[in-house]
Amino acid sequence: MEVDTDTDEGYQDEPNDEAEQGGGRSGDRVPRRSQSSTASRRRSPERASKREPAKPGRAGRERSSSAVGRGWEASRANRAKSGSFNNLDQLTIPIAPKSVTVAFLEEDPFATYNQHWVNEITDGRKSFVCLGEDDDCPLCVIGLGTRNMDLYNVVDMSGDEPVLRYIEAGPDLGDRIYERSQEELTKPLNQPGQYFVIKKAKKNRAFAHTVDAVNEDRLEKVSDLDPLDDEDVDSFLESLFDDSVVKRSTRRELQDVADEADDG
Ligand SMILES: [Zn+2]
Repeated sequence: MEVDTDTDEGYQDEPNDEAEQGGGRSGDRVPRRSQSSTASRRRSPERASKREPAKPGRAGRERSSSAVGRGWEASRANRAKSGSFNNLDQLTIPIAPKSVTVAFLEEDPFATYNQHWVNEITDGRKSFVCLGEDDDCPLCVIGLGTRNMDLYNVVDMSGDEPVLRYIEAGPDLGDRIYERSQEELTKPLNQPGQYFVIKKAKKNRAFAHTVDAVNEDRLEKVSDLDPLDDEDVDSFLESLFDDSVVKRSTRRELQDVADEADDG
């Protein structure tokens, strides 16, 4: 399997640095789901024809909602086991022509921070959350710049079932998402029935991202899943990621990094 790296701005090994820190990506941490639970989420002509207009609380939807519920429990268990958020919670943006299809759950990022990238570190994690210049961030003190990161809650529609993940958007992807959030047609990002296809392509030393809107009635072109109904969305909204996924370092840790970078 091709291990993709979500790098824009020319940071070639970005999200994997976090995995290395946590002891490595130890294979498939997502619990395997039974074929039957998977099947219940797949689009089938029979199921599609049986679909009724979405209305909260109507009977006969246990199947789809319990599939989401299982996904949730699995996701929670997954996090509990690893002791921290692992990279599988973060959406990986593939290189075109591959793409991911997502639904945004909120109209804004749930967290925004400034990140330092320390090229001098050859082994292990290279990205660090800036403490802020007001707090005499050790990495700012040695003159390292920062880039803005925006985190978004999304439902990943690219697999066998809808899965909650978060997007960690650097400046390029962040700009593309922000543009969509301001355009008359696509705002708010989380309007019902709206999905986005996201991919990236190498451009010079960096990645250029594209974020294209897809309406519910054309979702089948880019996803094997049924559109999300109100109940699906509600269960995802109960378990959104928050800024606890942002790995902050202590001043001491950042000072050590700064010393190492200066030596390098
Ligand atoms: Zn800083």
